[in-house]
Formats: sequence, C-alpha cells, structure tokens
Amino acid sequence: MNTGRAAAGPAILLLILAATGSSVAADVTSPDLDRVLDREYASLDSLYRDLHARPELSLHEQETARRIAMELKAAGFEVTTGVGGNGVVAVLRNGQGPTVLWRSDLDALPVQEETGLPYASTITATDDAGRKVPVMHACGHDIHMTALVGLARGLKALQTRWSGTAILIGQPAEERVLGAAAMIKDGLFTRFPRPDVVLGMHVKADLPVGVVGYRAGPAFANVDSVDVRVYGRGGHGSTPHLTVDPIVMSARIVLALQTIVAREIDPIDPAVITVGSIHAGTQHNIIPDTVDLQLTVRSYTDATRKKLLDGIRRNVMAEAEAGGAPKAPDMTIGESTPATVNDPALVARTVAALKKVLGDDHVVEVPPVMGSEDFTYYGREGIPAFMFNLGTIEPERIEASRVSGGRPLPSLHSSQYAPAREGSIRGGVRASLAAVLGLLGPR
Ligand SMILES: [Zn+2]
Ligand SMILES: [Zn+2]
Repeated sequence: MNTGRAAAGPAILLLILAATGSSVAADVTSPDLDRVLDREYASLDSLYRDLHARPELSLHEQETARRIAMELKAAGFEVTTGVGGNGVVAVLRNGQGPTVLWRSDLDALPVQEETGLPYASTITATDDAGRKVPVMHACGHDIHMTALVGLARGLKALQTRWSGTAILIGQPAEERVLGAAAMIKDGLFTRFPRPDVVLGMHVKADLPVGVVGYRAGPAFANVDSVDVRVYGRGGHGSTPHLTVDPIVMSARIVLALQTIVAREIDPIDPAVITVGSIHAGTQHNIIPDTVDLQLTVRSYTDATRKKLLDGIRRNVMAEAEAGGAPKAPDMTIGESTPATVNDPALVARTVAALKKVLGDDHVVEVPPVMGSEDFTYYGREGIPAFMFNLGTIEPERIEASRVSGGRPLPSLHSSQYAPAREGSIRGGVRASLAAVLGLLGPR
C-alpha cells in the first residue's frame, strides 16, 4: 500500500535533491535548536501570553501585525508591512542558496473563551456586521506566531550555518480564507524574492505535544460557503393557512440536504454538508417572510464538489416549490477554497529534515481532514508547498479522552481549546527551524 511516504528511501531522496538543484541542507542538530530555545523560551512564552490575551478578528489584525513586525525587525529581518491588508513580510538574505518562505497566520475567531486560563482573552470587538462579539485565539494562530518569532530568532542565531534567503510572513484573514490570496495579489511573489518552496504549520487538537504530523498529497478539503434565502409569505401565527411558512420549508430543506451525502455520494468519497446558521422571525406569533440559511460544504474532488452544490440547489428549489413558495429561493456560493495538496517531493525532503532533528517516532503520518486552509493558494502559483501539523495536547489528556466515558478533547475553534503551552511553543520553534534549515543551503 502506498502510505504517502513517497521518497523516503535515501536513493530516491538524493535524486529529488539533485532534481531540485539543492545539494545538502544546512547541518543543524537537536542540541543546536535546544540552545536557541533555552535562550529564547522565557521571552517567547511572554509573547505567547500577550498574543493570546489580545486576539483580533480577521481583517482587523492591526495590533497583532504591528507586534509581529516589530519582533521580526528586532530579530534582524527586513520587514514590510501592509502587504495584502495587514500582512507582514520579513526577509533575511544570507548569501547564495534556496529561498524558503514560511507562513504564519495572524487572526482570531468570534468565540467566547472558556479555558479558565490566567491569560484567557476577555476581548470583545465589533464584527463586520456591526455585532459586538467575543474574540479568542481558538485556532492556535497565537502558537503559530510565537513559533514564527522563535524561527526568526533561531535563523539569525544560526546564520553562520546556512545560506540562502528566508522569508517569514504573517498572513491576515486566514479564517475568512481571504488573506493568502490578498498577499499574493499584492505582490508577495514579485515584490520580494520568489520562493523555491513554501512551508506552513498548523496546530492540531488531537496530536500529542512534541509530535509533528504530515500528509503527502491532498491534506485539507475543498470548502464552499453557501447562502440560501427561502421566501414565504408572512402573517399571524394563528392563521397559518393564510400564509406560506418559510420556517417549515426550511426545516424540510435542512433534512433533505442530509440525504445528498448519505444517498448520492460514494461512501468512500469524503463529503460534508453542514447547515451552520439558520435565522428567521422575531417572536412567537408571527410567521416571517424569509429564512436565511448558511452552509459549509466540504469535499476533496471537483466532481464531488459539483455533485454536492448541484444537489443542494435541486433540493432547495424542490422543497420551496413543494411548499408553494411565492418566489424561488436565492442561492449564492460565496467564499470558496480549493483543496490543499502537499507537494510529495517537498514533503519527503522536509519530513527527512524533521525526523533528523525530532526523531523518527516524533514525525507521524496523519489522515486528511475535512478542514480547509487558504494556505492552498501558495501552492497554486507553481511553487511546491507543504503544511504540516504541530501536536499541542498533553498525551495524558489524549489517553483520558479515549477511555469510555472520558472527557472528549476540545476541537479547534472550541471555546475550550487550550494547547499545552510550553511544549507547543518549544515544539513549534523546533519543528519550524528543523524544516526551514533542512531546506536552506549549507555553509
Ligand atoms: Zn481556524
Ligand atoms: Zn487556523
């Protein structure tokens, strides 16, 4: 069976290295990274707690971007701000050699933090719809940023051991899948040295801290955000026969949509339709005129994506017709992100570098997920790209969640997601340094 460890054999690896033009990677060992971490840990820990306590929503990451730009500048990088909105680009030129780009994201989510941590966020902000919402780093982007700063300091400290150009970026609006495309459009690959490879890392809420997970090939799903407005004819709640009730039609739509995945998609082919938001009405005794539904639709192939979207349209229209709607529903497909495909040759090289520093048993294959990432856009510009996962959970907590009746682990985006702080920061810096140095040239 092809496990996805495509070119793990040394002979094939050498062939790939020759084909990509890089000879040997910078030679660093685990004790080298430990020395960097021992010196930097206290300051990175304090940076993490600051970032965690002051999260900002997508497209509103001004203060976060300012802090990250300041840190990267202090680390010795040449920093440009305002790239594609709040994007930060930091460059360190260090002689002839490959150009490696490393991406962190900057944004947080409208979630009320319930971790009970002393540095928990109590921040609220006004979202783009004008609502006051709580804000939390519930997707671990604060770990990513802390690792980014640790990576910058490590690259500078080990500057005599590698050659090439390192580009570190802080990307805005990942949660809205807008930031990567905006930075590319604003000249990420033309105003700055064009990278030979792009790397990124995302925390994982069910992987032990200190472990790195990877997947060659498709790793994150296609996602489409779909908005549906169902039209009825409102009136008094006591006289339903004089109205066309859009709430009843919508209830049937929600259930009908579930049969698309259950009955129309090959059970071996991953697909998800979730109705994440349904809004209508004002009080008990009024039948409203409209209902608004918001869906997230996930898949891995273009064919399945089309089947899901066609199925949604067909079911929405048919249920509205069955209910006697005075007007056909509106259906719009909004924010949409294609699947993230990790370049197999780049995965092989990076995984070899990670294993050398972290140890074979700390670098494991993980299955693809139905989550999505706008990191995918970096890999669609003809540049090999690879995003791997960082374990963030104490092994004891993972064990405890597996016994029957055990407390389930909070997922990403949960109000209770709390990465093991020290292990995640140290693990993030070690993994990012190992990966980037493994792809830069030797001295
Ligand atoms: Zn997220
Ligand atoms: Zn995220």
